[in-house]
Amino acid sequence: MSRLPPDFAATHFLSEGYLALDLLNSEHFDYRGRRPMHDLLDLPAWVAAWVQQWHLPVTGAPDGQALAALRALRALLRGMLENINTQQPITDVQLEHLNGFLARTPMQQQVERVDGGLRLVGLPLAAGWPGVEAQVAADWADLLTRMPPERLKVCANPDCHWAFVDQSHNLSRRWCRQWACGNLIKVRQFRARAQHADVGG
Ligand SMILES: [Zn+2]
Repeated sequence: MSRLPPDFAATHFLSEGYLALDLLNSEHFDYRGRRPMHDLLDLPAWVAAWVQQWHLPVTGAPDGQALAALRALRALLRGMLENINTQQPITDVQLEHLNGFLARTPMQQQVERVDGGLRLVGLPLAAGWPGVEAQVAADWADLLTRMPPERLKVCANPDCHWAFVDQSHNLSRRWCRQWACGNLIKVRQFRARAQHADVGG
């Protein structure tokens, strides 16, 4: 496994605490909207960190086929999240697609301890990237079935696209990180108001 630069976790925000969200957020958007999307699945250090974080049953980097499948799964998750965020129902086609990923390998269910609670998780019985796909799909299915939809959010900065679960009591979390998008939008709003005041005299 390749070593990560010391500031990697901070600059790449690994992780949001859910396997499926980490795959979603592997599409890394420049929160200032200046650079095109950077696909972290192409970055061996990120993939290695993700594998390590979740003890994924793989020993090497994904090959072309696995990469294509991971990207297809990621696009499916993003589409479902967009439906949730715009109060549209999850479609039958999306469910069928998700079930297809769940069926990539046989899975075993196991109870694990997480943040002061217990959680039922699906673990693939076969090693390799198809197992990872099934595991991500199971994690996402768990989020969909267990989490109120209003807690599944995307950062309020339209350039950012960062997906997260709002764990706050009053559903007040709006940003990936307050110091990044929160401050950026605050400054932009302040400038817009100042300009408006200038123009308006
Ligand atoms: Zn953000």
